[in-house]
Amino acid sequence: MIRFEQVSKVYAGGFQALNKVDFAVAPGEMAFLTGHSGAGKSTLLKLITAIEKPTTGRVQVLGHDVGRLARSKVPFLRRQIGIIFQDHNLLMDRTVRENVSLPLLIEGYRGREIDKRVGAALELVGLGDKLGYLPEHLSGGEQQRVGIARAIVSKPKLLLADEPTGNLDPKLSLEIMRLFETLNRTGTSVLIATHDLGLIARMRYRTLTLRDGRMISEEFQGVAS
Ligand code: ADP
Ligand code: ADP
Repeated sequence: MIRFEQVSKVYAGGFQALNKVDFAVAPGEMAFLTGHSGAGKSTLLKLITAIEKPTTGRVQVLGHDVGRLARSKVPFLRRQIGIIFQDHNLLMDRTVRENVSLPLLIEGYRGREIDKRVGAALELVGLGDKLGYLPEHLSGGEQQRVGIARAIVSKPKLLLADEPTGNLDPKLSLEIMRLFETLNRTGTSVLIATHDLGLIARMRYRTLTLRDGRMISEEFQGVAS
């Protein structure tokens, strides 16, 4: 699903954000990516989605060599990846239904198929009754779940989350993690970047740890909860 081979990233200006990183995420796997602020987590995610290219080394995602991918092919890659952000990036003047419909409209789906898929995605995240709501009338946890519904509505094979629980309290954070677990059980690969070690410890998944741009461990650190 994802394979990094000796991947280094040096930004313009000379800062080395990643240093010879090797790891892989298997199809159907769920894993955490952790490390202190500035360790390179966001950079690693940006390499997976071809927002950045590796300076050296090879990044393979869903069978594509991302570093060599033609610019015109990048949208095809991104459509197969669902991305979830800390601040969910919802359009605040659009309803839940409209927000979740957006990726499907971009892909050219129409009326009834959109309604069906949006309904199913919102059902899955437990918001089947909030279609007509504006995001501001939802709680923080519900807004994040709308962001997740939008990320999964086009049925991506891979889900990436960048600090998805950064703005949520521990109880809601755990709920969001359980939701990722549910999505993973349907066969979706999931990679979650977080520095919430408490949360990681409550789950039982492989944890990739970055320190100053180096991958320092690939351990199972979770304990049963
Ligand atoms: P994390 O997500 O773990 O906090 P990042 O990948 O965002 O880490 O950042 C790693 C390092 O790379 C940081 O020191 C950051 O300042 C630097 N960095 C990130 N993006 C850029 C960029 N576009 N240009 C220059 N330096 C960057
Ligand atoms: P986050 O880690 O919260 O996801 P970003 O990846 O956007 O945030 O940025 C992480 C760090 O990289 C920040 O310290 C930011 O200032 C720095 N950074 C991001 N983009 C650039 C850039 N174009 N030039 C220099 N530094 C950058």
